[in-house]
Amino acid sequence: MIKSVLISGASIAGLTMAYWMKRYGYQVTVVEIGPAPRMGGSPIDVRGDSLDTAKRMGILDAIKAAKLPSVGLEFMNAAGEVEGIKRVEEIGAIRPGEDTEIRRDDLVNILYENAKGGIDYRFNNRVVDLTQQEDAVTVTFQDGTVEKYDFVIGADGIHSGVRKLAFGPEEQFAHFLNFYFSVFPTDTSLGKKNYGQIYTTPTNLALVYFYNEDYADGFLTFKAKEKISYNRYDIDAQKRLVIDAFEGLGWKVPQLIDELKKADTFYFDQGCQIKMPAWTTGRVALIGDAGYAPAFPTGMGSTLAIQGATVLADAMAENDQYEVAFQQYNETFRPTVEALQATVYDGLSFLMPETQEAINIRNKGTQ
Ligand SMILES: Cc1cc2nc3c(=O)[nH]c(=O)nc-3n(C[C@H](O)[C@H](O)[C@H](O)COP(=O)(O)OP(=O)(O)OC[C@H]3O[C@@H](n4cnc5c(N)ncnc54)[C@H](O)[C@@H]3O)c2cc1C
Repeated sequence: MIKSVLISGASIAGLTMAYWMKRYGYQVTVVEIGPAPRMGGSPIDVRGDSLDTAKRMGILDAIKAAKLPSVGLEFMNAAGEVEGIKRVEEIGAIRPGEDTEIRRDDLVNILYENAKGGIDYRFNNRVVDLTQQEDAVTVTFQDGTVEKYDFVIGADGIHSGVRKLAFGPEEQFAHFLNFYFSVFPTDTSLGKKNYGQIYTTPTNLALVYFYNEDYADGFLTFKAKEKISYNRYDIDAQKRLVIDAFEGLGWKVPQLIDELKKADTFYFDQGCQIKMPAWTTGRVALIGDAGYAPAFPTGMGSTLAIQGATVLADAMAENDQYEVAFQQYNETFRPTVEALQATVYDGLSFLMPETQEAINIRNKGTQ
């Protein structure tokens, strides 16, 4: 009998999983809270083993064709002078020359195109209840529909709804990294073509990526000793938090704030890692940020999402017993996740050094 799987979340992890599950003969449903696969975000990297996976999925050429012509990062001072540069090959390369930086939107579109046929997508919907039985999971959707699936996969990001329903509250698993970040489109005149320009103070990081003919992203990050409470659905309140944190700073911060104010696409979140003792419970499994978000300073969120989905899908294809497959996923993928998550502090001290002295050393030491 054909087995069925419900995947929650149509982004990097969920679309990768949808492709594999379809290919391995499952009946696949994908539920996504947004009206379409979720767009937005600054460029992301497809690195290391995920390049081999992309080849297996038949999308490596499309990913390479969308590769951004990035030269590197320029470190700026408050007056707008370049103090140093770090070339893209020197920034966390796993396979120098092969690792590919690509717009997040492009990667989502490539994965979606590759996982369209024969998959039931349900947009503007989400799972509101999960009940596990021995032979199935009964799912209630927000629109009131109730259905049964053999398996449910949570690929719904850092604030995963499936995780909350099947494993418990987010607070148990989210480890705050003492910063908040925002991403929004910005005018290309604020950047330098094919570069990321970065301005750092001991508490703030402002970055403009201009890697495309007609498109640039602004990226504003600030440190916070404690978590700030805010409404996740109130965009204006989130914008105000960023504006207040960047008050009075130099370089192009005032213009970036103007861009942020008028941005329609705005992504804001806390910097955090998700750490869990197991990514499966009963017939439910988590992949990508939902199970093991590594945080952006690692530069590995997408790579980990693609790899995690593939390791789980392969295990499910290899083993008739799902318990064995889930155990295999938990055991074989854990060393990769833990090693990667541990690199976040190197990434943070590179991107956001603690003192002005450390910033100067980083900026000028890389000239
Ligand atoms: C809009 C956006 C912008 C981002 N920008 C950056 C960036 O600039 N830099 C960076 O390093 N990383 C960014 N990320 C995170 C990055 O995409 C992930 O770290 C990584 O690619 C892992 O992907 P994922 O599929 O596990 O999670 P995500 O990419 O976070 O995708 C989760 C998906 O689940 C959907 N979803 C959420 N809740 C529910 C629910 N209850 N039910 C159904 N669907 C749900 C979301 O709409 C989204 O489509 C961004 C993510 C998003 C969503």
